[in-house]
Amino acid sequence: MTLMLDPEVCYGALQTKHTRFDGQFFVAVYTTGILCRPIGSANAPQRQDCTFFLNAAAAQGRGFCPCLRC
Ligand SMILES: [Zn+2]
Repeated sequence: MTLMLDPEVCYGALQTKHTRFDGQFFVAVYTTGILCRPIGSANAPQRQDCTFFLNAAAAQGRGFCPCLRC
């Protein structure tokens, strides 16, 4: 099964922090400019502040910086 990059699914994953989503996608937060693993952030950002990427390189190409904590 391939994870579709559905924002609602991704945001749900952020909230559950289930480890099965680790490595499946990355979340970038507009307000901070930081790119995180889905299980990394302590608190889920606001839905409207999030965008999702299948890989870190794509997000960095859009100007997001990798999170130093995860
Ligand atoms: Zn992080």
